[in-house]
Amino acid sequence: MKNEMFCFQCEQTAKGTGCTGSAGVCGKSSDVANLQDDLITALVDLSIRAKGKTGDRTDDIVKEALFRTITNVDFDPLSVKRQIDAVEEETERLCGSNVCGCGNVAFRTEKIWTDDEDIRSLKSLILFGLKGIAAYAYHAKVLGYKDPEVDSFMYKALGAIGESSDFNELLAMTMETGQANLKCMALLDKANTEKYGVPAPNTVPMKIEKGPFIIVTGHDLLDLEALLKQTEGKGINIYTHGEMLPAHGYPELRKYSHLKGNFGTAWQNQRDEFDDVPAPILFTTNCLMKPKASYIDRVFTAGPVSYPETVHIGEDRDFSPLIEKAKDLGGYKEDRQMTGINGGKTVTTGFSAGTIMSVADKVIEGVKAGAISHIFLVGGCDGARPGRNYFTDFVRNAPNGTLILTLACGKYRFNDMNIGDIGGIPRILDVGQCNDAYGAVKVALALAEAFECSVNDLPLSIVLSWYEQKAVAVLLTLLSLGVKGIYLGPTLPAFVSPNVLNFLVKEFEVSLISTPAEDMKKMLG
Ligand code: SF4
Ligand code: SF4
Repeated sequence: MKNEMFCFQCEQTAKGTGCTGSAGVCGKSSDVANLQDDLITALVDLSIRAKGKTGDRTDDIVKEALFRTITNVDFDPLSVKRQIDAVEEETERLCGSNVCGCGNVAFRTEKIWTDDEDIRSLKSLILFGLKGIAAYAYHAKVLGYKDPEVDSFMYKALGAIGESSDFNELLAMTMETGQANLKCMALLDKANTEKYGVPAPNTVPMKIEKGPFIIVTGHDLLDLEALLKQTEGKGINIYTHGEMLPAHGYPELRKYSHLKGNFGTAWQNQRDEFDDVPAPILFTTNCLMKPKASYIDRVFTAGPVSYPETVHIGEDRDFSPLIEKAKDLGGYKEDRQMTGINGGKTVTTGFSAGTIMSVADKVIEGVKAGAISHIFLVGGCDGARPGRNYFTDFVRNAPNGTLILTLACGKYRFNDMNIGDIGGIPRILDVGQCNDAYGAVKVALALAEAFECSVNDLPLSIVLSWYEQKAVAVLLTLLSLGVKGIYLGPTLPAFVSPNVLNFLVKEFEVSLISTPAEDMKKMLG
């Protein structure tokens, strides 16, 4: 094992500059970090050498490989190694030999980290955004949906990472990454709504009923559905956790009466929340943290998530080991009331674009009449840094006539607070998972059309909390749509160089959050 690594792809990176040494802040060992770099190297090589030869099988391998390199997904050196082998075998299958015979540049991912700081910055934005796209494309794929344009963009972007050193070319590619992610989020939205119906508002209890239960976390709705089917009529209740909460909005998932409620809050609290619980936990995707010894035997992983010493559910989605574990552990003896971080006992979700647009006339009327003075989009990835209470304070102090659209796990900072409604429209509207940023974009575009103005001229402000690479993809999408004035926090990404930051500030008026009061004053003009 090489005791050196470099990784700065997420917000919690060491000292705000980069994780080095034998392990990252997330617990990823240098061994795994270096293998993940090797995996990216293999993907770039495949993209360059197999140009024009790739097919469905290649697309699937590439999506899963990129997904495995996202923060808090795959901590297992053996599974990353298997993925490298799969990519190299695919390259060999398509190109006839695994030895480069086409004059390919000797690209190594590590070279990015020591490149000119602007090139490093742009390549990082593209690569990390691409990882986010791959995660969304993977979720669509398991539901049987794919978009050839999104798939071919993956190779184009990986090729550019390997071959380009041109600032302007790479800058243009960052915007293309945002556009590709928009297409990908639209694809996943179509997959989710065609398969599970259009989400509708649902108030979800946080009471855990006595008896056996299973906690499901992550983002994969197909895993949840398969588990619901396999546990039906078995006396085992299912509770969502973290980003799985929006599942309660989908008609084809909420129809299962044993999908009872939501357990706990966002991912960064899992080491406290999962300790001492008489139930197993299924991780369908990120964000997995190093499990404590007290509960590692209750952690089950699926899909691209992997952690040494935990049971991994195979592609057949046979959840028998998990079901047996739930029966053995037996659950709580009495009902147990959990609360959100502000003490609330329920959380509401399911305000999809379709639902919000069904009351669009009320929203438009409210804005015109002055009953709705401003709309804030506050959400994104949550994390562990203390500065993240900014988002709670921001929503708590938002004036009465304002609506809060929210999404992703950042909503747990305030989604249990009751801040009332405006003319029957709840002031906090949970649009869904991070990929449902697409729904928020649809709402913003529809409002702009109704008011015959651009999104930037709407009484709308975006406050984005970022943590991992899906948030990078969403940010690039918003920028590629020309959305200006986004507030980003709690810190700026370590991989944004001063020149790239200048560009973002000049072109898009991106700002770092300061204090809720100060930022709100600026937003409300
Ligand atoms: S994913 Fe984040 S915490 Fe983990 S090694 Fe990379 S930068 Fe560090
Ligand atoms: S939104 Fe981001 S930080 Fe939150 S659970 Fe999903 S991947 Fe993790």
